[in-house]
Amino acid sequence: MMILNNIQKVLIANRGEIALRILRACRELGIKTVAVYSTADKDLKHVRLADEAVCIGPPSSLDSYLNIPALIAAAEVTHADAIHPGYGFLSESADFAQRVEESGFIFIGPRAQNIRVMGDKVAAIEAMQASGVPCVPGSDGALDDDPIKNMALAKNIGLPIIIKASGGGGGRGMQVVEKESDLLAAIELAKTEGQSFFGNPEVYMEKFLTTPRHIEIQILADEHGNAVHLGERDCSMQRRHQKVVEEAPAPGITPALRNKIGQVCAKACQAINYRGAGTFEFLFENNEFYFIEMNTRVQVEHPVTEMITGIDIVREQILIADGQTLSFTQDAVVIKGHAVECRINAEDPNNFMPSPGKITQYHVAGGLGVRVDSHIYNGYTVPPYYDSMIGKLITYADTRLGAIIKMQNALSEMVVDGIKTNIPLQARIMEDAVFQQGGLNIHYLEKMLGEPH
Ligand code: ADP
Repeated sequence: MMILNNIQKVLIANRGEIALRILRACRELGIKTVAVYSTADKDLKHVRLADEAVCIGPPSSLDSYLNIPALIAAAEVTHADAIHPGYGFLSESADFAQRVEESGFIFIGPRAQNIRVMGDKVAAIEAMQASGVPCVPGSDGALDDDPIKNMALAKNIGLPIIIKASGGGGGRGMQVVEKESDLLAAIELAKTEGQSFFGNPEVYMEKFLTTPRHIEIQILADEHGNAVHLGERDCSMQRRHQKVVEEAPAPGITPALRNKIGQVCAKACQAINYRGAGTFEFLFENNEFYFIEMNTRVQVEHPVTEMITGIDIVREQILIADGQTLSFTQDAVVIKGHAVECRINAEDPNNFMPSPGKITQYHVAGGLGVRVDSHIYNGYTVPPYYDSMIGKLITYADTRLGAIIKMQNALSEMVVDGIKTNIPLQARIMEDAVFQQGGLNIHYLEKMLGEPH
């Protein structure tokens, strides 16, 4: 068994499928686990499986999974060495990372400083440009209040353009401008949204790409200056900026193109002294990559990369946080086969309304090349307080079509009764002839659903 230097016990500061995913990685490494849970989550699967479990508050996330003092106190009473934030919740809070380290625990993630820079889009773009990462043509920094200058800038970039709040996230604080006459009002609106949602009125301008794909690069970097990329994922199948299906590799990306952009990302990690797992998100149009943001955490869609590389990303996160040197070099990262992930949500497949409640019957798909990352079980009640994702179905085969066929079968085997799920929608996508061709842009799914943007 792997010997860890500094981490013997990990507190998992999350819930649901990612908490279970982290617990599994810890167990395989011989690390003890502490689950934390809200009063609505005492029946979560990982809470049952963890070595210890601490209730950290009432259902509201603000009082539980986002409650920094409660999480630190839970780590203190259980004598955990390290805290894994998962995704969502506090995973991209620089303040949390800092508090964790100041309290004497290891944060399983990047340095607080890196999280802080990447959380500010203007600062992130500046850091990326300085490191040679291709960005969307734009204002190269925050807009000031000069309407004449801003109009000249927009004309120079060429309409349509998009105004984005520097503090934005989750698709909020963005305004697309098609006509010059709308520009100044859009800047004001983006500023107001940035201030009210994110406490930051700073906005910037980018060319609006009309038919891009969403392609992202997974990287791993240790604290000794080594960085590798694990290739790309295609996450273009989105609805309202939410990813629905992800796959790896991205259709049509040649090994030469992958290595080129991958090396740029790995080098950027070295340049900014990045540590941990991370994702560079790009829009991809006319065979060019344009950086939009970096996610400084493990992502929902990490399994598709694991399937095609054989590398356990959560395990690597823990080893990196333990201070270890990456145990492999770029040459050892070999991409083989194709993986597809369908997010399974507790929601009405027709109107997308959340559908919490008790699961009365659960039959899970299986077989060669079928992976289910989910915390649900027969009799489990999906609480209404959190994200509606209840798991992920991942298939792997030699070819893309093989993975899609496996996914069709796997979806047809899944039975989740008592609540509504988006399984019928995912089945529709997998049977869609255009999706099967691959390489679609980020608007395709909404078009397929008859709700064009
Ligand atoms: P957030 O942090 O809110 O997710 P992003 O910068 O990642 O914001 O952008 C979210 C989505 O908005 C992208 O996935 C893409 O669909 C769209 N978008 C962002 N910037 C552009 C752009 N310059 N051109 C076209 N679409 C864009």
